[in-house]
Amino acid sequence: MGEGMLDRYEQVVGSGEIFKLRQLAEALKGARVVHVNSTREGGGVAEILHRLVPLQRELGLDASWEVINGDPEFYECTKSFHNALQGNHTDIPASLLEVFEQTNRENAEAMRESLAGADYVFIHDPQPLPLLRYIGGRRGKWIWRCHIDVSRPYRPVWKYLRNFVEEYDATVWSLAAFAQPLPHPSYLIAPSIDPLSEKNIELDDCEIASVCAQYGLDPTRPLIVQVSRFDRFKDPLGVIQAFRMVKTHTPVQLVLAGGGATDDPEGAKMLEEVRAAADDPDIHVLLLPPDVHRTINALQRAATIVLQKSVREGFGLTVTEAMWKGKAVVGGDTGGIRLQVLNHHTGFRVSTPEGAALRIRYLLKRPDKLKQMGQWAKQLVLENFLLTRQLLQHLTLMLGVAGDPLERIELQ
Ligand code: UDP
Repeated sequence: MGEGMLDRYEQVVGSGEIFKLRQLAEALKGARVVHVNSTREGGGVAEILHRLVPLQRELGLDASWEVINGDPEFYECTKSFHNALQGNHTDIPASLLEVFEQTNRENAEAMRESLAGADYVFIHDPQPLPLLRYIGGRRGKWIWRCHIDVSRPYRPVWKYLRNFVEEYDATVWSLAAFAQPLPHPSYLIAPSIDPLSEKNIELDDCEIASVCAQYGLDPTRPLIVQVSRFDRFKDPLGVIQAFRMVKTHTPVQLVLAGGGATDDPEGAKMLEEVRAAADDPDIHVLLLPPDVHRTINALQRAATIVLQKSVREGFGLTVTEAMWKGKAVVGGDTGGIRLQVLNHHTGFRVSTPEGAALRIRYLLKRPDKLKQMGQWAKQLVLENFLLTRQLLQHLTLMLGVAGDPLERIELQ
């Protein structure tokens, strides 16, 4: 991202939005803002930070991004947190919790200078959560940003993590349904996509056709696409089941495109299961490197319908990306997909492979409806889920947590 990006956003969202951004940022000029997460590549959080941090800098904030490091046991523990917060009954052995805390102690040591002096620290997800405790003295406000679907967490694990969360000044959730009772203010901020990133910019038809040719896709048959890490919560096996049901009636192809995230140790096993289930030449399982954003962009644009059949989903940036490209989405009836896929309007929400197959067949038979839903989908993203809106809410939040609490008007 280079200088002058704000002018380019103005062309997408209008000058009013950019004016508001500049005005709010004025009060935060020079503020030291540090974001911490657990991976630079793979997954939605990294995707957002790659775009949000440079834009905060362009607005005059002194923003930076740190990544916590750990060994495989650390990621095994944090992946278990992730699974438990999304509802799996996973008890985590004390020895792994000790690794989790020790890793955070060591990272706190390495990051002390940058974090202790920051005006605002945004800790993303549970992996770096204990940093605050181990940093010791601090100057600024610490905000925990939870991106996970915690609507029904496994209580013993949430209780353990809650001890760390309580020490923060505020928590940000993606959806009201995720908010847990805490002794500090909770904020709701939905994630966003960047319309100007390689993942989302317009591509010409030649480039899209050449990506399809590269993967042996037939341009004459409808294409169903799901882009996701290979993770059980994304239900890739359910996608394959749905695809098989559709294929008994209609000639159709499926792309399941995904990559690993460095903080996700379970991906390889899931990929193996997906490959074993995908015994059909019309099912294309693509394991992609983390930086092929234009390829994913092209596959999403080539799709007739985009599927995101998750059984739990914090938000689902892949849904937003597809909708921005004018695609109707058939998505799992869960978490952040509910904010985006408005049933019968921007797509369909489904709970089973049978439901997904039914909706796909319905849409394949009605190209006009498919097109209309895609247009509504794009409009919904334009109005609600672009980076500039998220940034505006971040700036508002920073001013809110820094202000005198007595000056705040609480709306009960
Ligand atoms: N993504 C990617 N390559 C892949 C799989 C996913 O670049 O092989 C991107 C995807 O386009 C999206 C993000 O990773 O921007 C995934 O975010 P999402 O919120 O959908 O899911 P998460 O992985 O955070 O659970």
